[in-house]
Amino acid sequence: MISVAEALDRLFSLVSPLPPEPVPLTEAAGRVLAESQIARRAQPPFPSSAMDGYAVREAEVRPGAEFRVIGEAAAGRRFAGQVGPGEAVRIFTGAPVPDGADRIVIQEDAVREADRLTLGDTLTPDRYVRPAGGDFEAGFTLDAPRRLTPSDIALLAAMNIAEVPVTRRPVVALLATGDELVPPGGAPGPDQIIASNSYGLHALLRAAGAEPRLLPIAADDASSLETAFGLAEGADLIVTSGGASVGDHDLVGPVAEALGMERAFYRIAMRPGKPLMAGRLGDAAMVGLPGNPVSAMVCGHIFILPMIRAMLGLGAAPAPRDRAILAADLGPNGPREHYMRAVREADGKVRAFDRQDSSLVTVLAGADCLLVRPPHDPARQAGETVEVVDLAP
Ligand code: AMP
Ligand code: MG
Repeated sequence: MISVAEALDRLFSLVSPLPPEPVPLTEAAGRVLAESQIARRAQPPFPSSAMDGYAVREAEVRPGAEFRVIGEAAAGRRFAGQVGPGEAVRIFTGAPVPDGADRIVIQEDAVREADRLTLGDTLTPDRYVRPAGGDFEAGFTLDAPRRLTPSDIALLAAMNIAEVPVTRRPVVALLATGDELVPPGGAPGPDQIIASNSYGLHALLRAAGAEPRLLPIAADDASSLETAFGLAEGADLIVTSGGASVGDHDLVGPVAEALGMERAFYRIAMRPGKPLMAGRLGDAAMVGLPGNPVSAMVCGHIFILPMIRAMLGLGAAPAPRDRAILAADLGPNGPREHYMRAVREADGKVRAFDRQDSSLVTVLAGADCLLVRPPHDPARQAGETVEVVDLAP
């Protein structure tokens, strides 16, 4: 048996970062920036007014001081002249501060009659001038790689960048196999169940920035699986669920091998999860997940999502972990790393569900995290700190 970390390392060796493609800013949120972006221009590009008021010389500002208003500066339209002694320019938020002026007196602090401006008795001390480059200077760099947030998009736009190179989305073919499976909305026979794995994985992959493709369900026979693998053409990653064990009807391995895959079979010291199959099949990486619905989804979080992040250029790292305080005692763990379905309660403490069978999708849906028990972890008491993996990162 190998550890989860070792298995993950072997899976990382099957994939590499995908090439970049240009996208307009409106399509870039959630994508991974592939090359650092440099501002060619400072923001603001000129000293600008932070308020509506009057631009004057700071040295002349005192209660009751008088000025002559000689013009106006608005956003997008500067005052072309110079502000001399005793002079003021009417100014609005975002307008360039005129030459000679270095202080904005807000309009609430002054009284104007025609071109005469008289300052009030109490003056707000702030100068209300945003210096040139106060937000960012020319040459400011937004570093890659990073998953672009809406705030990043606003920043890129402010940097005058209209199109950005982002890592191409990994195309992931999802293949469910089993004679017992019919798709949701189908008409199951008396001995059949509904295929759920591909749908959960589809949602997981899409949220992670991949482009999942659902293949038709394959029956437990070689020709059906061969046909399905043929439909995976063009994928960067093929993820199967079911049929990957060592039973008589588990044909994913033999069929993939017949199609040229160098199959690696990992017995992983992990619960839930059965042996995981992996290799390269044509131009794609292939991972065979267990069929049990919770195992498939947990393996999705613990193995497939880190592979996707590596393909997106975000580096080869395991699923991020948080710390949480235990709400209730836990017994000792066995030799396998246990990913327990758990929920964080109102006080932030984490509680593992009593029922941990890997077929229970209701329990999975009720969980918001996986509580990670290391191999041979001794019994833990309420109040101790444990590690969790978020199910909705
Ligand atoms: P297998 O890995 O094929 O031995 O399947 C293990 C268990 O998971 C069996 O109870 C299967 O019926 C179930 N199973 C396999 N594939 C799926 C799927 N796509 N959706 C839901 N259950 C599945
Ligand atoms: Mg099966």
